[in-house]
Amino acid sequence: MFDNKESFKDMFKKELVSQLGKPVLQATHADVYRILGMLIRERIGPDWANTNQSLQAAKARQVYYFSMEFLIGRQLGNNLLNLGVLEMVRDGLEELGFDLAAAEEEENDPGLGNGGLGRLAACFLDSLAAQQLPGHGCGIRYRYGLFEQKIIDGHQVELPDYWLQRGNVWEVCREDKKVEVRFGGQVHMSERENRLQIELTDYESIWAIPYDIPVVGSGSSHVNTLRLWSARPGNEPIKPLASKDGSYYNYLNYYRSVESISEFLYPDDSEYEGKQLRLKQQYFLCSAGLQSVLRTYDKLGLPVQSLPDKVAVHINDTHPTLVIPELMRILLDEKGCSWEQAWHITTRTVSYTNHTTLSEALEKWPAGMLKQLLPRIYMIIEEINTRFCAMLLQRYPGEQERISQLAIIYGDQIRMANLAIAGSYSVNGVAALHTEILKNREMKVFYELYPEKFNNKTNGISHRRWLIHANPELARLITEAIGTRWIAQPQEMIGLIKYAGDPGFMEKITEVRRNNKLKLAKYVQEKLSIHIDPDSIFDVQAKRLHAYKRQLLNVLHMMHLYNQLKDNPSADIVPRTFLFSAKAAPGYYLAKSIIKLINTVADAVNRDHAVREKMKVVFLENYSVSLAEKIIPAADISEQISTAGKEASGTGNMKFMMNGSITIGTLDGANVEMHQMLGDDNMFLFGLNAKQVMEHNQKGDYCPRHIYEVDSRVKEVMDQLIHPGRFCAEGQHFEAIYQSVLHHQDEFFVLKDFSSYVEAHLQIDLAYRNASEWTKKSIMNIAHSGKFSSDQTIREYASGIWRIEPHVT
Ligand SMILES: *Cc1c(COP(=O)(O)O)cnc(C)c1O
Repeated sequence: MFDNKESFKDMFKKELVSQLGKPVLQATHADVYRILGMLIRERIGPDWANTNQSLQAAKARQVYYFSMEFLIGRQLGNNLLNLGVLEMVRDGLEELGFDLAAAEEEENDPGLGNGGLGRLAACFLDSLAAQQLPGHGCGIRYRYGLFEQKIIDGHQVELPDYWLQRGNVWEVCREDKKVEVRFGGQVHMSERENRLQIELTDYESIWAIPYDIPVVGSGSSHVNTLRLWSARPGNEPIKPLASKDGSYYNYLNYYRSVESISEFLYPDDSEYEGKQLRLKQQYFLCSAGLQSVLRTYDKLGLPVQSLPDKVAVHINDTHPTLVIPELMRILLDEKGCSWEQAWHITTRTVSYTNHTTLSEALEKWPAGMLKQLLPRIYMIIEEINTRFCAMLLQRYPGEQERISQLAIIYGDQIRMANLAIAGSYSVNGVAALHTEILKNREMKVFYELYPEKFNNKTNGISHRRWLIHANPELARLITEAIGTRWIAQPQEMIGLIKYAGDPGFMEKITEVRRNNKLKLAKYVQEKLSIHIDPDSIFDVQAKRLHAYKRQLLNVLHMMHLYNQLKDNPSADIVPRTFLFSAKAAPGYYLAKSIIKLINTVADAVNRDHAVREKMKVVFLENYSVSLAEKIIPAADISEQISTAGKEASGTGNMKFMMNGSITIGTLDGANVEMHQMLGDDNMFLFGLNAKQVMEHNQKGDYCPRHIYEVDSRVKEVMDQLIHPGRFCAEGQHFEAIYQSVLHHQDEFFVLKDFSSYVEAHLQIDLAYRNASEWTKKSIMNIAHSGKFSSDQTIREYASGIWRIEPHVT
């Protein structure tokens, strides 16, 4: 049906009339979206079935990527692209009088992730399928995604994100593949035929219903599966309707409590969230996912000992760590394995990615809570810990301190990272610097115990979504210059280096980038009624709001720049537009204050006619994948300014680079690897490095107040946070922000890096004046960005961790 344009048009018209019962001319954009979705699903169906069948027949080794988040973004455009019919469908629709872009806007972003970690999972799925690798996602079908952010009076307001409101054309409910998940209850042990028998009674039974989303491989007929689980009440008998004792209402309450398990995504990012419901969600994912993996495995008819030869289970951060005790439970209690057998199988099946060096973000659960919610799982964790500590005592006699650092259960806490490392065969960090910090600092004792488990896999992004789909004009230009090979092999973009001095190419790329800026300017005008100048520097920071990402440093610099313009209205600066987009966790007061501060500064600056030619500040609400796709292709400057040592990798940095933005950044996360390729000429580095930050922390010799006292620029902007004047109205102030810097010792070294950051911005101002040099830098960034393709990252996971191979049907 997608063979050629004419057959597509016929099919589209037929489907539209038969599905909607209205004439083609009356179809809305939403109708066009839905019909396209249905046609694509029909088109994918046979390939999907074939892929599964063929993998099963070949008994291919497969990887299951467990993640609490999959930030997959809109599916329509990406599916059309991966099926190779995007242009044809766009043209066909146009001939029928419809606009594909408008239809794409009708799709709700599935907000099934918080930020980088969830988006990484989505890019990985795309790259697995593109390389015909047998790899599937396993997650939760949250009915409510991350909240929808509205900015009201400068403040973040959270609205529920009911992304499923209009249904989801991409999913297929596999009712027949539901599995039972058990919570609570009592564990009974008995002996039968010389074996320990475990029975759970009085438990709460819940059905996990899988909803499958196809993941289409670009340029092939390979289709993997993203399986998302939804909770539904289990084997309870339905009480007679409206009986006198109110049992119907009790039943409804019970029903609601069960459904709440897959009700919403926790909107916290990297901070410990101690909610029992979150623990329930984690076990729900692990148990349902593993049961379904094992059911597929059982069909192969192989002994359970061969599981590690056929199945790799990967956990994206510690959130799905319960796969380890859950796999142990199934092997021990259901498959009749001995402890040694079960442990041998488990620790050869599971691998783990660590995503943070922030110690407050390392997950811990109160032992009591876990024991009550999952009594059998708790017993197994206790046994793992007992045996682990016995081994440690032998290996490190007398080293109490070391052993207590390694222990899985410590005090009343279960340390999920410790469990994940002990129970898996591979532990990877997500950028070279991050992995080194894990080995030498955060996880040092584990690295000394298991050096062979540790490895690095630098994060990556899908160039299909982040370049070809988000920036089609740039993609076309790249193809014009170097041919089409880069599409399958993004490393080939390195060939663009030749064009970094080519006047014809430079002119074209400048035009493409200016068009993107015009488009964003139009969007900003429509959304916020703010006029921004496409010839100003678009200076962008778009990512979750977090103290360590230092949006505050960016704001203090803007305040300083504005102060300078007020002191000297004729100052010769290149006009700047500062753009922000960021959601803050709803309970994270400081982060929300920073959003308010950005908007307060924006109001003051944008209202001031005296600086209107030179400076604007824009906050775009509700950062999401689809908004990122609009913002990133229009950015001149990419702000990657985290406190060195705090950002594990970052992936936003890679998206901007691939679209030709120049980074201002610290030597943190993947910026370090970026700098190794680009050098000082094509990037603006500033600030402390990770080692210097660590040394200050060890010595405790950093005094922010000293900087406040000696640097008048710093004093001025800090005082403006708490005194009415240029920014704050009477009665308004940002006390908490002020205190976090001056009284709580500026944990993130904002003032320490201020001066060097201001200097780097002066360099940007100078560099931008030389348009051709700037364009060269931009081309150099694009040319080197192939290193950060998630296709490359996934090849490294496939060969170095999972040992899976492309499967050609
Ligand atoms: C890429 C991405 C992120 C991660 O950005 P960082 O700058 O790496 O923190 C967060 N949210 C969305 C919507 C993204 O697309």
